[in-house]
Amino acid sequence: MRQPHHRRQVVEIADLLKKASSALFITGAGISAESGLPTYRGVGGLYDDRHTDDGIPIEVALSGQMFSDRPEVTWNHLSRLESAVREVAPNRAHRALAQLQRTLTRTLVLTQNVDGLHQAAGSRDLVEIHGNIHRLRCETCGHKDVAHDLAVFREPPACVRCGRPMRPDVVLFGESLPSAELIRLKNELSHGFDIVFIIGTSAGFPYISGPVITASRQGVPTVEINPGETEVSHFVTHRLATHAGPALDAILSAVLDPGR
Ligand code: NAD
Ligand code: ZN
Repeated sequence: MRQPHHRRQVVEIADLLKKASSALFITGAGISAESGLPTYRGVGGLYDDRHTDDGIPIEVALSGQMFSDRPEVTWNHLSRLESAVREVAPNRAHRALAQLQRTLTRTLVLTQNVDGLHQAAGSRDLVEIHGNIHRLRCETCGHKDVAHDLAVFREPPACVRCGRPMRPDVVLFGESLPSAELIRLKNELSHGFDIVFIIGTSAGFPYISGPVITASRQGVPTVEINPGETEVSHFVTHRLATHAGPALDAILSAVLDPGR
């Protein structure tokens, strides 16, 4: 955090965290960018006004409709994402966030990422609202299995329990959110949080921007970490317009620093 403006904000955020007993951390693709996974939109985004290699907009290629009409198109994109994810490791932003969680009594990480990197970094209390690319799910009986390498399948593999086709356990565009995760999220939100972070997401979905806007209206401190502007930038009380790794590292150091 070289800029003095950032430094002051980091100290304020750390002081708020030291007083807090609960915190909500909302994350998106930007927190995994420093692991080498490209984001969709915003700073470093792959698909700003562009189409995928096959000329299909990403929201269409990764939609529930496309998966039922031409499953091979969706499978191809998901298997590329899955093999990219298998190559990478959590970065210092994931690790600092997991450590910050350990300083608090109650936390929730609400992530849109399907890469499993929060878990790999040791985060607890995680809601993966868009699923996890490392899992397959049977749409018929609900059986879940580990996905080792999606690219080896020419067609969706059969469920070991009922024989029906399995699919990647991720939420595609236009599909509804997993109900167990939604119930857990609503329950957690109903208790409120002392501070809310939103990190590395364009915040395009109402269930992502909503908790930040609600918290800000209730006078709860809200922190955005994102080098670009987003849907919630004007609502937050603290905005660090920088990358997630250095920002979370600086906040963690300030929280742990006994000299302050
Ligand atoms: P997004 O691509 O729409 O937005 C990414 C955001 O991260 C942008 O606002 C960008 O400015 C910011 N950013 C870029 N580099 C950053 C950094 N180093 N530190 C902090 N912020 C940074 O992604 P989204 O908001 O998560 O939502 C879109 C969808 O993309 C979701 O459905 C998600 O499931 C999916 N997705 C997931 C992954 C993953 O699992 N790693 C990767 C790409 C997309
Ligand atoms: Zn089944």
